[in-house]
Order: sequence, then structure tokens, then C-alpha cells
Amino acid sequence: MVVNLLRRHSTDVETARRQMVEEHLIRRGITDPRVLLAMSKVPRHCFVEPALQGQAYGDHPLPIGMKQTISQPYMVGLMTQLLELRGRERVLEIGAGSGYQTAVLAELAERVYAVERVKSLATKARQTIESLGYHNVMMRIFDGTYGWREEAPFDAILCAAAAPEIPSRLVEQLAEPGVMVLPIGDDQSQTLVRVLRREGKTEVEEHTTCVFVKLIGEYAWKE
Ligand code: SAH
Repeated sequence: MVVNLLRRHSTDVETARRQMVEEHLIRRGITDPRVLLAMSKVPRHCFVEPALQGQAYGDHPLPIGMKQTISQPYMVGLMTQLLELRGRERVLEIGAGSGYQTAVLAELAERVYAVERVKSLATKARQTIESLGYHNVMMRIFDGTYGWREEAPFDAILCAAAAPEIPSRLVEQLAEPGVMVLPIGDDQSQTLVRVLRREGKTEVEEHTTCVFVKLIGEYAWKE
């Protein structure tokens, strides 16, 4: 009986996850097969409260406590795709929140250095990541606007909170070639930006409008 219930639960979440990948990622233009595979593997429902698990595969953010949200699947897919990870990269993630994006990155890169400023979120994210068996993640409770100097340079940086401008400290911690994706703006309007560092130059591309919580710290917004 319990086994049957468990089996039904696992096929339900697998179906929901497959639908998420088809409807919210592929249909909206996410094409990188590695990103699609990673997001079809990571159990997103494990990163939200039990009461919200039924909504975990819808294309919307969800509350994770401390006034923060787990990002919408499409935005996770888009930001991850823009990093063009091939498997050997060292990635810095700022704003780990629930740890969902961290797990997606851990599927796609060699090592993920995740930073979260809210202790309770970081502690929970770390537990979830460990319980799912990811061994290539280091998580630190810190103000990510400083980056992670001891571990720099990074091949890729993903920041999941909106900065007022491109933080120069983070650009300095990018390898060459290196790529960074982050929202720039205030709580009214933001643009998803990709920064490419290569051949001694830094190029900036603007991608789409988006809504993230603010990046709060020494080199971004004040609390
Ligand atoms: N990608 C996460 C959601 C991120 S929400 C997920 O999928 O769950 C943005 C997160 O950035 C929040 O958890 C917030 O606490 C964190 N944050 C904001 N400013 C930060 C800073 N300066 N350093 C580290 N984390 C920060």
C-alpha cells in the first residue's frame, strides 16, 4: 500500500517535471540539451515546503521564506543556458535561496561555489543539496557582492538577485574567457544581462525584462 502510494507520487512528480520541461522550457525557447536534461533530473519539489510541492512544476516563482522566492523554471533555464556550461567549469552562484538553481548548476559544471546571505535559507539549501547526493557544491553564508575571492577566478558567475549596476568586483573575479549572468535594475524594472569577458575586453548583452528580489549588500542595494 505504502509502496504503491510512493510509486504513484514518484510518477506524478516525474510527469509534472516532464511537462514543465516541455511547456515552460522547450516551448519558450530553451534549446540547450544539457540544460533540458539537468532540469528534467533535479527534483524541484524537494526545494519547497511540503504545502507548496503540488505547485513546484508550474512556471512561477514560489515563496521559500524570509521574503525570498525560488526562481521561475523558465528563468532558471534561460540564465543557465546563457552560461553555456560544458562540464569542466567552476561556477560562482550568488543568492542560492532554496538551492534549486545550485543543483541545476551542479549537474552541469565541475564545481559550484554558492553564496547566500540569509543563514536559515543557506542551511536548508545545504541540507537539501546534500540529501540529493551532490558532492560538488560548496555553500557559504556571506554577502555575495564581495564574490568569493579565495576561489576566484570563475569560468561562470550566476547572480539571482538584482544589482543596481554590474558589480565590478564580480567582473574582476571572472576568468578569461568568462561569463556572468544577472539581473540589473531596481524592484520596479530589471533587465537580464550577460557579461562576457574575453580577449581583454568586457562585452555586455541585454536579454529580457525580469523580476528578481534585490541584491542586498556592500556593493549593491542597502537593506
Ligand atoms: N535561485 C534561488 C532563488 C534566489 S532568490 C532559488 O532558485 O531558490 C535571491 C536570493 O538572493 C535570496 O535568497 C536572497 O537572500 C539572496 N541574496 C540577496 N542579496 C544577496 C547577497 N548580497 N549575497 C548573497 N545572497 C543574496
